[in-house]
Amino acid sequence: MGCRGCSKKAKRLVRGAIGYTKAKLHIDRASDSAIASRKRTCGACQYSSKNSMGRFTIKSVCSLCTCPIEEKSKVKSAKCDAGKW
Ligand code: SF4
Repeated sequence: MGCRGCSKKAKRLVRGAIGYTKAKLHIDRASDSAIASRKRTCGACQYSSKNSMGRFTIKSVCSLCTCPIEEKSKVKSAKCDAGKW
């Protein structure tokens, strides 16, 4: 029996890897309007990383799920861990 925290982390990692692969292969792709809306939400979110100028960028990462937001926002079945989209 494994540690509950490690198991949760492992599931999150696997989910992230699957999502990243889907985004790169254009599988399960969200609509352009959904992607734009998600990026706007993430851009204003306290959990998204910002560059040295304090701006949301194509390289921003969500600190809740550790996913790259550019890729995550493109996967139709992806969900925000904070329930924002
Ligand atoms: S996925 Fe959700 S929690 Fe993460 S940066 Fe976007 S809006 Fe915030």
